[in-house]
Amino acid sequence: MASPLTRLLGWLFGPPPRLRCRRSIWADGVRQLERRTRGGRQESGAYLLGTELPDGGRRILEFVYYDDIDPRALETGEVTIRQTALPRLWEHCRMRGYGVVADVHVHPGSCRQSPSDMASPVMPRAGHIAMILPDFATGAPEPGAIGIYEFLGGGRWADHSAAGRRFVKLEDGA
Ligand SMILES: [Zn+2]
Repeated sequence: MASPLTRLLGWLFGPPPRLRCRRSIWADGVRQLERRTRGGRQESGAYLLGTELPDGGRRILEFVYYDDIDPRALETGEVTIRQTALPRLWEHCRMRGYGVVADVHVHPGSCRQSPSDMASPVMPRAGHIAMILPDFATGAPEPGAIGIYEFLGGGRWADHSAAGRRFVKLEDGA
């Protein structure tokens, strides 16, 4: 149950961010994703691994790139992970003690979801968050200028893109 103070803070500042990420981890990850498009020749993407926070949100601690999990993931130009590659991801999560808290991939143009993005969520469970970086991730995009979508189940999604950094908070610090 929320304490009176938590309720007061929620009333004053709105709900806590659903995702938090250290700015340096975000910036490195986005730079890697841009590099892995090979100059805008293919899409790229990553699983975002991390842990749960006491306020119900999640902290992103690591980008695990699709082409590191499946060397052929980017071959067609659009991200496709073979099911046979997934045990490598689960093993990595187990070693680190992390879970998949979200995913991110780049688009050539806009950060709107494609029909296939909507039809096949990376983690098909309600509450999963998928982010899309526009323009092959050039220009170091941050929340506020990216697509942020929450899978609701049953093929439905909520669009949180406009909430930007109130939804995905980048934090300074070591
Ligand atoms: Zn897409």
